[in-house]
Amino acid sequence: MRLFFPATDHRQRFPEATDAEFGDWRWQQRHVLDDEEKLSRRFSLAPEERLGIAATRGIFRFGITPYYAALMDQEHFWCPVRRQAIPLPQEATARAEELVDPLGEDRHRPVPAIVHRYPDRVLLLALDRCAVYCRHCTRRRLTGHGAADFDREALDEAVAYVRAHPRVRDVLVSGGDPLLLSTERLARLVGDLRSIPHVELIRVGTRVPVCNPFRVDDELARALRRAEAFVVTHFNHPKELTAEAKEACERLVDSGVPVENQTVLLRRLNSSARIIADLNHRLLRLRVRPYYLHQGDLAQGLDHLRTPLSKGVEILKALRGHTSGLAVPHLAVDLPGGGGKVTLQPSYLVSQSDVGARFRNYLGETYDYPEPLDRDCSVPYESVFYGEEGREPERPSLACGP
Ligand SMILES: *Cc1c(COP(=O)(O)O)cnc(C)c1O
Ligand code: SF4
Repeated sequence: MRLFFPATDHRQRFPEATDAEFGDWRWQQRHVLDDEEKLSRRFSLAPEERLGIAATRGIFRFGITPYYAALMDQEHFWCPVRRQAIPLPQEATARAEELVDPLGEDRHRPVPAIVHRYPDRVLLLALDRCAVYCRHCTRRRLTGHGAADFDREALDEAVAYVRAHPRVRDVLVSGGDPLLLSTERLARLVGDLRSIPHVELIRVGTRVPVCNPFRVDDELARALRRAEAFVVTHFNHPKELTAEAKEACERLVDSGVPVENQTVLLRRLNSSARIIADLNHRLLRLRVRPYYLHQGDLAQGLDHLRTPLSKGVEILKALRGHTSGLAVPHLAVDLPGGGGKVTLQPSYLVSQSDVGARFRNYLGETYDYPEPLDRDCSVPYESVFYGEEGREPERPSLACGP
């Protein structure tokens, strides 16, 4: 029962659409509900939602695909799909500590479409449009204003930047949503990246499997497989795992494209261990691996969606040991101002000395772990394997732990 992936019924809210139309991703994007009038023809808005739409006009774009709108619960204000798609008035109020550029990305943009914050990997901003504009979006300064439109030239410049920087072995293609590019343009972009010898890993970050899963057709899946890319999805609640979303994820995985998921912790929408565990179990059932659980960033107007840091730790504590390790994501805090991601986890270490450590396990029981007698960890064969000179002088050093 828990692992049921229900089909989405559009007949009530979009009776005029044929099944074929509703299942066509371009029809979905052409019929995005992007103002109050279009939405209220399908959905009866609460007064606060009307205020929210009015207050955020000109601050951050608004738009919901018919598919995602069909998942919204008319009866419940706190429906997680509804709350991720329809703004509230709080979103229009920026607090003093909130930032326009919460992750300091603009300081690390050597060319307009590249964020280069870490030594060996970059973020490539492929376009500035999205299928649905998430109310929790932290990249709202870029998405959906038209101000940061990344044209062919900007993408060529981004690829040239990667080509010119041999230390970059990992490219995260993001945006906006890269899966809104035509398959031809996306295939050219990932193909260009794949042709760069020092690029090992290509990840494509997208919310399309959540908001317009019909986009994931065989041709797209084949193009991503050809480029040997990973896909990183963004499911935040089990309600988003419909039969259509399942088909999209499985099509990617069946085609040989590994799929990972990042979830944003959203106060009162998914801030519960039961919800995160259920979401991750269902994702694993589709062979999608939970990767990050993101603590909310300090973007303007998002205070009402942020959880205290202790909530994320409490959720991880409820998962670790109690369920498959594969269902336990990394809890990431992306430090305000551009410090990069750090991770938080429950502490299982009670005390530590040269001779050993004492731990408390997931059931609260205490166990001792003695250290080995010989503590020398130098690896004699290492210089044989890599050569005396070191085969990878460009790489950041990988230390062997504390
Ligand atoms: C999150 C992020 C990455 C990827 O980080 P991983 O921990 O490798 O997943 C790369 N660049 C930027 C700017 C990021 O924000
Ligand atoms: S899909 Fe991503 S970039 Fe687009 S609005 Fe949602 S969170 Fe922001």
